[in-house]
Amino acid sequence: MNQAKTIKEQIGFLIELQVIDKEIYVLTAEKTGIPGKIKAMEQALETKKSGIKQAEEKLKSLQVSLKDKEVTLQQKEEQIKKLQVQLYQLKTNKEYSTMLSEIEGIKADNSLIEEEMIKFMDEIDLAKKKIAEEKELFKKEEAGTQKEKDEMKTRDREIDARLSGLFAQREKIAPNIEKQILSRYEKVLKNKDGLAIVPVEHNACGGCHMNLPPQVVSEAKLKEDIIVCGSCSRILYVDDNVEID
Ligand SMILES: [Zn+2]
Repeated sequence: MNQAKTIKEQIGFLIELQVIDKEIYVLTAEKTGIPGKIKAMEQALETKKSGIKQAEEKLKSLQVSLKDKEVTLQQKEEQIKKLQVQLYQLKTNKEYSTMLSEIEGIKADNSLIEEEMIKFMDEIDLAKKKIAEEKELFKKEEAGTQKEKDEMKTRDREIDARLSGLFAQREKIAPNIEKQILSRYEKVLKNKDGLAIVPVEHNACGGCHMNLPPQVVSEAKLKEDIIVCGSCSRILYVDDNVEID
């Protein structure tokens, strides 16, 4: 504590401190929000990434299904070839026509398989196209996110630098205020969103805007004591340059 200051002088220092503390409050809130913002951006990217992965897995299973159909088709075609060879070795008309209809049956199956294969191929083409588009989009978003993250990290460092400057200013002002008054101010600061000392405006508290009894207003005007708002507990002062009525 330097040379003892009057209450009026100390209120002056509290007002100076409030300007600094307001900025500290705003910057600290901004800084606190940065990691969450970065995490949300990373999660959004991660969700897109797993979406692409799922699409790729679906594509793979479509390709496996197509391959299965190909194998089946090939087997059935081999079967037809074998039957066709046997066909000419048969002795009776009945055996011949039975085998012929068997061959026809297999051929009918094959054309169904071929239709299914075409369907799979179409789906595969579509899936490939979609995956390529999404990957392209992802790349852009990833770059955008990286840029934003870098900007936020730069901002974080700026805030740190500004905050240490503000704390240094605070250190210079705080010793001019009595410990008891300062701790009262700091308690309100903490509980009331970084706003602890407010002007009286139109006979109301400049913090919570509740009307103040005339006696409180005149006491605040005198600056002989620390006067607080009965509603929000903020310290009140009357700006000498402003008409209060
Ligand atoms: Zn108030």
